[in-house]
Amino acid sequence: MKKKKRIAALLLAALLLTGCAAKTSPDSQPSSTATSVPDTTKSTGVGFYFDTVVTVTLYGAPEGLMDEIWAACAQYENLLSKTIATSDVSRINTADGQTVTVDAETWEILRRAKEISSLTGGAFSVTIAPLTAMWDFTDGTNRMPTDEERIAALPLVGDSRIELGENNTVTLPAGMQIDLGGIAKGYIADKVAELVRGRCYGAIISLGGNVYTVGDKPDGSLVSVGIQDPEGPTNTYFTVVYTKDKSVVTSGTYERGFTLDGVRYHHILDPKSGLPSASDLVSATLVMESSMDADALATACIVVGSEEALKLLAAQKVDGLLVTTDGQVLYTEGFPEAYMVSQ
Ligand code: ADP
Ligand code: MG
Repeated sequence: MKKKKRIAALLLAALLLTGCAAKTSPDSQPSSTATSVPDTTKSTGVGFYFDTVVTVTLYGAPEGLMDEIWAACAQYENLLSKTIATSDVSRINTADGQTVTVDAETWEILRRAKEISSLTGGAFSVTIAPLTAMWDFTDGTNRMPTDEERIAALPLVGDSRIELGENNTVTLPAGMQIDLGGIAKGYIADKVAELVRGRCYGAIISLGGNVYTVGDKPDGSLVSVGIQDPEGPTNTYFTVVYTKDKSVVTSGTYERGFTLDGVRYHHILDPKSGLPSASDLVSATLVMESSMDADALATACIVVGSEEALKLLAAQKVDGLLVTTDGQVLYTEGFPEAYMVSQ
């Protein structure tokens, strides 16, 4: 257990100031006669998908790669958004007990979501949807369910009841619905990383709390990712982690929420109660190759609290950093040595 260090604003710009590095193949090594200096020209783009600001920094990208990224984001939003009527998620949610055929990618996300739900004892549940629908953490209406409404919806939560059949079919019992808000951004970060890997000098992809770094900096040092200070204004960081070709995902109770009569309500719900999780964690940052797994597991960590989260991460061999409500920072074994030393 370590005391939280407040480096805060000092590290403000750490995230996007960093560069990334090359997959230099042996035959492209500069020789004494060659003039080939790799193109590391920086291009940046900002988009808005999934109710989230998406920022992409590319180094040495070919013409059109940025456009391909936005096209992929739009395509995933059309597939996975619960507010787009024709999306796979909407079709599942309005099927009323009938079987629907979905895209292979939607099916794969649900397959993994079910696994993660099972290994987190249901703390992560995409079938939380009937409950998330009763809360509004985004539009300023401060909408929340009555105790009666909330309790009546609890039996509709349970990812083991999502039936995944052959040929990408999905069947949900009538009344149940899904919300991929805790996992989809991770999946998309993985897919964008896949899209750019090997096609540019380096990249930093950021979808809200999901950051994927491809390669390292042109000078060979690791990419640094700022970790949001749970108590500070947006984009103030209390520390940085250094990674290479991995995703750094933070889930935090400070992300979305509202305060009513002095009580703060936030967007990570405990599937057992349907209320915002009341654990001792305000944020969880995980470093993994799979941004999708990190996204779902980070959400689960917040729900289960520090003690269970550390056990879960150790069992799954996942590296992470947790911040408690009283400002302590807890690390999985070896985390500071592996990720907090500039190399
Ligand atoms: P963010 O979307 O801010 O990055 P998370 O990854 O933690 O944060 O996901 C929170 C979102 O996931 C919520 O907005 C909601 O859509 C959904 N969600 C809330 N509670 C849970 C839960 N216990 N399990 C799965 N998804 C959840
Ligand atoms: Mg998540």
